[in-house]
Amino acid sequence: MPLDVEKIRKDFPILQQQVYGKPLVYLDNAATTQKPQVVIDKIAECYRTINSNIHRGVHYLSERSSEAYENSRTAVQKFINAKFPFEIIFTRGTTEAINLVAFSFGEKFIREGDEIIISAMEHHSNIVPWQMVCERKNAKLRIIPMNEEGELIVDELDRLISNRTKIIAVTHISNSLGTINPIKEIISKAHSHKIPVLIDGAQSLQHTKIDVQELDCDFYAFSGHKIYGPAGVGVLYGKEEWLNHIPPYQGGGDMIHNVTFEKTVYNKLPFKFEAGTANYIDAIGLATAIEYIQNIGIYDIAMQEHQLMQYAATKLSSIDGLKFYGTAKNKAGVISFLLQDIHPYDTGMILDKLGIAVRTGNHCTQPVMDWYKIPGTVRASFAFYNTLQEIDVLCDGLQKVKEMMG
Ligand code: PLP
Repeated sequence: MPLDVEKIRKDFPILQQQVYGKPLVYLDNAATTQKPQVVIDKIAECYRTINSNIHRGVHYLSERSSEAYENSRTAVQKFINAKFPFEIIFTRGTTEAINLVAFSFGEKFIREGDEIIISAMEHHSNIVPWQMVCERKNAKLRIIPMNEEGELIVDELDRLISNRTKIIAVTHISNSLGTINPIKEIISKAHSHKIPVLIDGAQSLQHTKIDVQELDCDFYAFSGHKIYGPAGVGVLYGKEEWLNHIPPYQGGGDMIHNVTFEKTVYNKLPFKFEAGTANYIDAIGLATAIEYIQNIGIYDIAMQEHQLMQYAATKLSSIDGLKFYGTAKNKAGVISFLLQDIHPYDTGMILDKLGIAVRTGNHCTQPVMDWYKIPGTVRASFAFYNTLQEIDVLCDGLQKVKEMMG
């Protein structure tokens, strides 16, 4: 059923405001999404009513907050259909989740001369942690290439995989090009060689249904703030057998079972990976965001966003001098482009004064920009609360940019 977008927009107080005297047109959703009132209320309610450090107290408040935190874990487990709640590790976000795997998996399984495969369109957070492992272990990074459309050349995997390949880490949806990568195919190719796969889900869970068991990925990382939840909380999903085999990422309180000066025995999952006071309030807020998404329905969200993407692609392509970057057949969430030879920052600055928030630059995917030999792009990224009319405003804004700069 088509979403009642006008009604939905009322759930997001930030969208009601004007900037520079113009109605805000927020098209920077790939960077972060706005928060519905229920999430904002839940965070305030937690601080007002149950705030207390989790897992360490026998008193009423601590039990309430611990219970709410663990219920959030179960909510995430159900949302992505993980087999067990303890396969859900709360982190600061996608970046920390990937760093956790890169460090812990790297410590345990990566030796000199081993290889790690990533793709040509990774966010820096799925490049740098692996480079750090390679530096530490004297291992090699290998790259799945992409074509002009911004699609991965997955057949190249057959050439790239060797008996030294220890892990493959790829993004599900590219944050700079919008490409939806064929992760099922990648996972099944990798598994036929017994290689585990980490999926960077920072741009996918908000746009499409994720079932980690069906995908059969070994690790899946995402950020709360990109799925209408609070900033500062995210998730690493890992299959039990991997999480049990890799060492803790950080040491401290909560991740221990027993400590003496001679030896520490680590806690069981998931606590082994959650050292120190967790961001429990935001984890609870994340569960509220998930509930909100579920109430709207992920399939209806996907349909609404598909319509926005199609409308934007058609409207923008009618602007003379506009060139798209990332024209894959399978795309979601993001449209990247340049207008004539106008620098993306200039385009972004003028659009900003018209109340339109887009992102400009390399979007933390510098190798993608290098591939196209451009300094960056203008990126419009969509959420289900965006309207076709907002896309019209963007197109009018771009015409103004051309008049001023062309
Ligand atoms: N991976 C992708 C594809 C992203 O788009 C982002 C953020 O934009 C990240 C990873 C990093 O997410 P965070 O900064 O929330 O850790």
